[in-house]
Amino acid sequence: MTTPARTRVAPSPTGDPHVGTAYMALFDKAWARKTGGRFVLRIEDTDRNRLVEGSEQQIYDSLAWLGLDADESPELGGPYAPYKQSERLDTYRPFVDKLIEDGHAYYCWCSGERLAQMRKEQQESKQSNTGYDRLCLGMTREERAKLPGFSETPVVRMLVPDDVTLSFHDLIRGEVKAPRPDDQVILKADGFPTYHLAVVVDDHLMGITTVVRGEEWISSTPKHLLLYRWLGWDAPDFAHMPLLRNTDKSKISKRKNPAARLMWFREQGYLPEALRNFLQLLAYPPAEGEQEVSSFDEFVEGFDWGKISTVGPIFDVKKLDWLNGVYIRSLPTHELADRIVSYALESGQWSSVPEGGRETVLAATPLISERLVTLAEALPKLQFLFDSDYDLSINPASVAKLKDNAGEVLAVAETTLKDLGEWTTGAIHQALNVALVEGMELKPKFAFAPIRVAITGEQVSPPLFESMEILGKDSSLARIARLAQEL
Ligand code: GLU
Repeated sequence: MTTPARTRVAPSPTGDPHVGTAYMALFDKAWARKTGGRFVLRIEDTDRNRLVEGSEQQIYDSLAWLGLDADESPELGGPYAPYKQSERLDTYRPFVDKLIEDGHAYYCWCSGERLAQMRKEQQESKQSNTGYDRLCLGMTREERAKLPGFSETPVVRMLVPDDVTLSFHDLIRGEVKAPRPDDQVILKADGFPTYHLAVVVDDHLMGITTVVRGEEWISSTPKHLLLYRWLGWDAPDFAHMPLLRNTDKSKISKRKNPAARLMWFREQGYLPEALRNFLQLLAYPPAEGEQEVSSFDEFVEGFDWGKISTVGPIFDVKKLDWLNGVYIRSLPTHELADRIVSYALESGQWSSVPEGGRETVLAATPLISERLVTLAEALPKLQFLFDSDYDLSINPASVAKLKDNAGEVLAVAETTLKDLGEWTTGAIHQALNVALVEGMELKPKFAFAPIRVAITGEQVSPPLFESMEILGKDSSLARIARLAQEL
C-alpha cells in the first residue's frame, strides 16, 4: 500500500490561467485520490510586478469548473493555512537567516547596472561560466560600499558549492541530469523570497510528498535539492511533466494559441468533462482494448507515473471537438438544455432568459443535439424559434434557390395547415405530404423547401415538422403567409 500522497499545484496569478495549470492539477488530484491523500492549491504570488487583477479568482473558478478543485486552498483553508505566499512572508525570513549563518547564502549589493555590465563582459569574452561572479562573497557591507555598482538594499544569494549534485530521480523520467546552477537569488531587495526559496519552504512545511510540475523546472531542481539538504529536510518526489505542444510541435503559449487559456474552453462552449477527458488522453493514449472516453475515476484507477510519455503531447483540438460531441450526446435532454441556457447567459448570447425560453430550448434540444459540437452552436441554430414572425430574417440566398412554384406551394400549405386539428409533428408531416407530395406531385425536397425557408429563414435548418410543432400553429401560419407575400 502506497503512503497517502500530498500533492500541490502552485500557479502564479499572472494572467488568465494556463491550460498547463489544469494539466498539472489533473495529475495532482489523480495521485492524491489514488493514494488516499490530499491535493493542495497554493497561490505563488511573490513576484509582485507580474500580478494580474482577477487572475487568482479565475484560477479557483476554472479548476472548480473542471472538477479539479483542491482539498486545501486559500479559498477553503486547511491545516497548513495560509496557502497564499504573500500571506506567509514571515515564514521565509528565518530560513534565509539560517542559510546565511551556516555559510550557505550571502548578501549581494550589486546594482542592476553592475550585473548587466558583468553579463555583457561575460558574453563578449565568451566565458563559459556566465553566472554571478561573486564579487560580494565574503565582504561586509562597508567593504562592498567602497566598490562601484553598489546598491543600498541587498539581495541574498545561494552559495552553490562546486560539488552540487546535478542529477536526481524523476517519477516519469528516471535519472535526470540538469546544468550547474548559478548563485541563485533567494531573497529579493524588496524582502520577498524568490520562487526557489518559497517553493522549497512551502512544499516542506505543507507536507508535500510529490511535486508535479512542468519540465521547464528541471533545471531548477538541483537548487531546490540543495536547499532541502542545507535545511535538513527530506526532498519530495518529483514528476516533471512534458510540455503540451501545438500541432506544429511548438510549445503551447497563450500568445500563439487561444487554447492555451483555460477560460477559452469555457468561452467556446466545451463541457468541462470533455476537456478533463481530453487532458487525460494527453497524459497517455489508452492501452489496447481500453476506451478513449473515460471518467476521472477510471483515470485514477489506472493511474501510473510510468505510463506517462516524456514526449510533449500534441494538443489537437479536433480530438476535443469529437469528445465534446460524445459528452453532449451522453447528457439527458433536460441537462443538456440547462447547459445550453447557462452557456447562453454566461456568454452573453442572452442577457436574460426570454419568456418561455427554457421550455423552448428543452423542446428543441433533441432536434440539434445529434450534430452539436459545442454549446456555443446551440442557440444560433434555434434563433428562429425566438424571433418574432416579422423580425425573422429570411436569407435572400435561400429564397433565391427556391423553385418558381414556391408561391403556389406556400398557398397550398397554408390552406392545408389552417384546417389541421391536431398540431403535432406527425400530423403536420402527413397533411403536407398528402397535399404537396401526393396532391401536387412534387418531390419532397421541392415540396418542403419553401416551407422550411418560411419557418426558419434558411434552406438548412433543424428538422422542419418538429420545429413547426414547437413554434405553434399561429406562428407557423403567419410565417408561411409572410414569405408567400414577399415572394
Ligand atoms: N509558481 C510556479 C509556476 O507558476 C510553480 C512551479 C512549481 O510547481 O514548482 O509555474
